[in-house]
Amino acid sequence: MADTKKESPNVYDVAVIGAGPAGLSASVYLSRYKLSNLVLGPEYGGYVSTTHLVEDYLGFLTVSGLELADHFTKHAQNYQDAEVVADKVTEMKQNGKLFDLKTWNGKEYQARSVLIATGTVHNKLDVPGEKEFEGHGVSYCVTCDAAFFKNRRVAIVGGGDSGAKGALHLADFASEVYWIHRRDTFRAEPIWVDRVKEKPNVQFVMENTITEIVGKDNKLTGVKLAKPFEGKSNIALDGVFVEIGSHPDKTLPGMVGATTDGDGNLIVNNHQRTSAEFVWGAGDNTTASALFRQISTAVSEGSIAAGDIYEYLNDPRADWHSKGPIVTD
Ligand SMILES: Cc1cc2nc3c(=O)[nH]c(=O)nc-3n(C[C@H](O)[C@H](O)[C@H](O)COP(=O)(O)OP(=O)(O)OC[C@H]3O[C@@H](n4cnc5c(N)ncnc54)[C@H](O)[C@@H]3O)c2cc1C
Repeated sequence: MADTKKESPNVYDVAVIGAGPAGLSASVYLSRYKLSNLVLGPEYGGYVSTTHLVEDYLGFLTVSGLELADHFTKHAQNYQDAEVVADKVTEMKQNGKLFDLKTWNGKEYQARSVLIATGTVHNKLDVPGEKEFEGHGVSYCVTCDAAFFKNRRVAIVGGGDSGAKGALHLADFASEVYWIHRRDTFRAEPIWVDRVKEKPNVQFVMENTITEIVGKDNKLTGVKLAKPFEGKSNIALDGVFVEIGSHPDKTLPGMVGATTDGDGNLIVNNHQRTSAEFVWGAGDNTTASALFRQISTAVSEGSIAAGDIYEYLNDPRADWHSKGPIVTD
């Protein structure tokens, strides 16, 4: 490849959008292929940086999310061909043979190809009071905010791994934790649920949902429930943590004409190619990860994408769809 950094400081072989496991893994491989790559992302490590503990990523028996995110970032930054920048892409469009990108911080970049690795955004409860008390008792990040609730009463909503690990982490700070789940069984790995059961200050509120978050003077004071719990239809609380899954944002794919499915997942083939030429996708935001969103899958997709980008940029005459069809419906 041409040394694009020497030609122009702001033209890269690849713009990697998102500095999570998918984006950073791609960056490592791209650098080793000597492709200049710019990784843009507001949080280095993506969701991993907001995760309490990780115990299922190969090679680490138990590691804090922050530490793992730090390993990922330093690995990517180790290569001269990579530039990792804390910023967010706000605009992107194809301009002849290049992509023009604009960012939150007012910077402009150009790249020959793009890898969209933007992960997902948290789902909301969508109940009255949620928006009003966001940041004033309602939180979407246990790791970030648990310490603010020392000796307070909190609830956590969601029956997956994030909900279980959140309950576990909150139990170390809060005086009482209510784990609210709409079903009678959990989707979380049983090992996490067993550990939560060992915590004496966690109460399980099963087959129930929050119908309203209430408070006054800008401060959350409790929740109303769909069904009574221990004879009461509300719980007095200081905080509510929401861990009910996430969904991809399809704004960036839309800007470059890359097709998404009905849930907003970026449609990719086995080589992480999208329906738009010179645009790849990797990680939680793609159809490849839609049924299992994990660090290991994101890292794999990032590396597969990087390998394919290398091959394709070296032989762009190859038909874009020659490596299998892109299913668009
Ligand atoms: C609480 C919690 C606990 C978890 N625990 C585990 C676990 O123990 N083990 C496991 O394997 N997985 C776990 N996961 C899932 C795992 O974190 C994800 O599967 C993984 O981080 C996905 O990586 P990614 O790179 O695809 O996306 P992300 O990690 O979401 O990273 C994407 C990044 O792109 C950024 N971005 C979005 N839009 C833009 C834009 N316009 N411009 C620039 N950047 C943008 C986002 O801000 C984000 O930082 C957990 C997730 C959560 C929420």
